[in-house]
Amino acid sequence: MRDARYDILFDPVKIGPVTAKNRFYQVPHCNGGGYRDASAVTEMRRVKAEGGWGVIFTEQADVHPSSDITPYIELRNWSDADIPALAKMADAIHEYGALAGIELVHAGVNSPNLYTKEVPLAPSPLPILTFTSDPVQARAMDKDDIRQLRLWHRAAFRRARAAGYDLICLYAAHGFGIIQHFLSPRTNQRSDEYGGSLENRSRLMREIISDARDEIGDRCGVTIRLALDEMAGPSGFTNAELRDLVAMHADLPDLWDFAHGNWENCSGTSRFKPEAAQEDLITGLKKLTPKPVVGVGRFTSPDLMVRQVKQGILDFVGAARPSIADPFLPRKIEEGRLDDIRECIGCNICITGDFTQSLSRCTQNSSFMEEWRKGWHPERMKPRSSEKKVLIVGAGPAGLSAAHRAGLRGYEVALAEAGTELGGRVSRESKLPGLSAWARVRDYRQGQIAKMANVTVYRDSRLSAADILEFGFEHIGLATGATWRRDGVARYHLLPIPIDNAMPVFTPDDIMAGRLPAGHVVVYDDDHYYLAGVMAELLVRNGNRVTFLTPADKVSDWSTMTLDQPFIQARVLELGIDVHVARALSRIGASSVSEVCTYTGRECEIACDAVLLVTARLPDDELYRDLKAAEDSWLDHGIDSVRVFGDAQAPAAIAWATYAGHRYAAELEEPPPEDGVPFKRVLAVMET
Ligand code: ADP
Ligand code: SF4
Repeated sequence: MRDARYDILFDPVKIGPVTAKNRFYQVPHCNGGGYRDASAVTEMRRVKAEGGWGVIFTEQADVHPSSDITPYIELRNWSDADIPALAKMADAIHEYGALAGIELVHAGVNSPNLYTKEVPLAPSPLPILTFTSDPVQARAMDKDDIRQLRLWHRAAFRRARAAGYDLICLYAAHGFGIIQHFLSPRTNQRSDEYGGSLENRSRLMREIISDARDEIGDRCGVTIRLALDEMAGPSGFTNAELRDLVAMHADLPDLWDFAHGNWENCSGTSRFKPEAAQEDLITGLKKLTPKPVVGVGRFTSPDLMVRQVKQGILDFVGAARPSIADPFLPRKIEEGRLDDIRECIGCNICITGDFTQSLSRCTQNSSFMEEWRKGWHPERMKPRSSEKKVLIVGAGPAGLSAAHRAGLRGYEVALAEAGTELGGRVSRESKLPGLSAWARVRDYRQGQIAKMANVTVYRDSRLSAADILEFGFEHIGLATGATWRRDGVARYHLLPIPIDNAMPVFTPDDIMAGRLPAGHVVVYDDDHYYLAGVMAELLVRNGNRVTFLTPADKVSDWSTMTLDQPFIQARVLELGIDVHVARALSRIGASSVSEVCTYTGRECEIACDAVLLVTARLPDDELYRDLKAAEDSWLDHGIDSVRVFGDAQAPAAIAWATYAGHRYAAELEEPPPEDGVPFKRVLAVMET
């Protein structure tokens, strides 16, 4: 039963003509599926509704073909042809009593229109402002264009209502919506009644909201998602201007939804943004309006949610990532099952799906976006197919996930771990600067397994192939991890580089085991994700002088996908680290290294005392190879299957390991797909 101190989170709250059953408000979020994988998106939202959210929004739905943000894949609300798919999503959300919301947008100066080939529109003639700096500018809208834009919105409102939505949200945050482009003095340089004063810059917002009320306000709540601060200094749309705007329009929308002005700041990783990071910017806004307020902050702590509501900061607890990591967050609070909450770790792997146009992954919730195509569920597993027993070797994220999920299926599971601590790489990495939240990957699974009578954990148990053959279990899952390489091999060098044995060479495994270099260290990053930057920070804090070398053009280049690359590069520079980009390590000498410019091939020497190589990893798959070599004797030992997965199969980020563990358990004793495709997919329909 729920603890009475959380009762307030379950109050119904009115939003214009509709009422949300509680204060859990899943704000719009991308998922890499959008219009292309509408079935996957629909099922994902249905599972969130089952998990108890009071309000569930779709991702952004563009209102017109001149708002096309290709290559990013969101939803479209361009014409009546879009209504059936949008209606299925609304129906799925309604199935468990949640309010269905749709986020509508014209992306303005954020839409390069690469697919539709329409000429982009914006308040003023500026280059398209996207992540990819496409070579195209927007034309300035004249009054006719503004009239058209309003008509397009009106038509989109009608379609949203026809599709069954209870709420519409006008997207004017993160730099992605035309209302924000009109509000900001940076993107709105007009001299007519739509530019200049705040009164003028907010005219379009007033007009579109009034149009929405007029079209659908009798049945649907009209909400707006506004930038808390554009984060562009005094020349941008500031938090002070936002406060003036809300005060001027206190009664205008049915709800105010506040998010940060740019996405990088709004959805910061846990390394750079703590839970409730936007509290200062949002505090006091509620006093300016009688209408309900929603805000976000990667909230996973119910006590923090209660505090923000009780202190009058928020009416609704907005969440995107916490709802991805745990679609059942509200139900778990309602049922007094706080221990079962699967907390978001703030890694932003989910966001990379948007950047890579692939169905998103979540490190904590492997079923995210697999609800439809694989039939996975965040809380349930298909019951076991037999009474055979499962031995999982290695308790890193892959092994822990496999043991937990096989346990949920009802199998008798033994989990053997060589060390005394569970968690593998997440335990080690969580002790590094800024990565403490990584431990949640371990803590959730360890906590769940501890409650399962059918899962037994053996610590301090390094198993050999002979041990496993004698163990007496039918299914063997090997999740023995990987080791960082010490020979320079990664992406730039596919073969080992010359290394003089006199130079102390370290790998991340050494650093995490507490073996630290002395003096001036060259950190070589050919991994391009977060670890080299974190290690460089640790070394500076350890008193080392650090030179950072990477063949990429940026520090931690892949972290652009997780939105924190700019913060990582700033951190490295602020720490006084000497950064050499577009430089590969070509040789490690006795007292210096050679670096080579990746463009010109020009070489130069850097004198140093030690080198830290953050390069590729080698799978620790010796156990698997030993067992494979003994395959002839499996039958005699009663072994049906031996599988290797996670980093021991192919090293990758943590999300890949948790996914691999989930997949191992889900596919155990299941027949392989008849056509060889391991999931359902949407096939294109040919039109003539
Ligand atoms: P992954 O990311 O694939 O889960 P990790 O490196 O995080 O991989 O975890 C692998 C775990 O497997 C480590 O905790 C390691 O101690 C454990 N391990 C490796 N070899 C054995 C073994 N032979 N017996 C038991 N545990 C092992
Ligand atoms: Fe949170 Fe990471 Fe999952 Fe995204 S991928 S929801 S940031 S745990």
